[in-house]
Amino acid sequence: MSKGGKVYLVGAGPGDPKLITLKGVEALRQADVVVYDRLANPALLEHAPVQAERIYCGKLPDQHTMRQEAINQLLVEKAALGHTVVRLKGGDPCVFGRGGEEAEHLAKHNIPFEIVPGVTAGIAAPAYAGIPVTHREHGSSFAVVTGHLREERPDLAVEKWQALAQGIDTIAFYMGIGNLSMIREQLIAHGRDANTPVAIITWGTTERQAVATGTLATIEDRLAEHPEIANPAIILVGDVVQMRDKINWFDPQMLQ
Ligand code: SAH
Repeated sequence: MSKGGKVYLVGAGPGDPKLITLKGVEALRQADVVVYDRLANPALLEHAPVQAERIYCGKLPDQHTMRQEAINQLLVEKAALGHTVVRLKGGDPCVFGRGGEEAEHLAKHNIPFEIVPGVTAGIAAPAYAGIPVTHREHGSSFAVVTGHLREERPDLAVEKWQALAQGIDTIAFYMGIGNLSMIREQLIAHGRDANTPVAIITWGTTERQAVATGTLATIEDRLAEHPEIANPAIILVGDVVQMRDKINWFDPQMLQ
């Protein structure tokens, strides 16, 4: 079946093109085919040979450019032709990136593959906003959560909200901007203090990074003052957010 073909599921990092791993760059340098997402910085394609085929399969939140089954099939087909294929995904391929599903499909079709982890937005965007996701005084547990929690697992919703609201110090919500009111209401309803600090970071680690801060009580009003903050954004909830007042270091101009 595959004559030497292989697929690398590579994390592109959160945006700053230097936040990819050396292993990710090495995979790109050997690529015959690169299949990349909207959130993978296109500057990274420069690591691939000029003759490599570049296939865009980005997805906007509300429109599917290429369906997941078609992507799975494409990876198998290209590798079966003997090609080295890099599947380049924003952040880490296995954090809300469907890396697990793609790997499963490749394994099922006996296509050799490697997973190259990446720097995930829920850690990197806060870091570039001057917020460490853990801190000995302000946060000793950290969760990454989909902002679509209620839609994806309605059966578990109540228990999950209770556990998150009461058991986790720092919570990073991905894909959550459209559900911000629901998220803040659920956390408060399940026992989180309404004065808990919140930061929303859009296009973290890029020259378009912008940040709004507030509390669970005020964040919606604060967001209304920042029309530039939209998808992609991380909603970070927890006392660690107050560290931004002390260690905010990143100026998006640095990347221009
Ligand atoms: N695999 C990616 C996440 C993909 S889900 C990762 O590990 O980072 C897409 C969501 O990721 C977006 O809705 C947003 O919540 C988040 N995201 C990705 N890049 C981002 C960035 N540069 N700044 C803020 N959020 C980002």
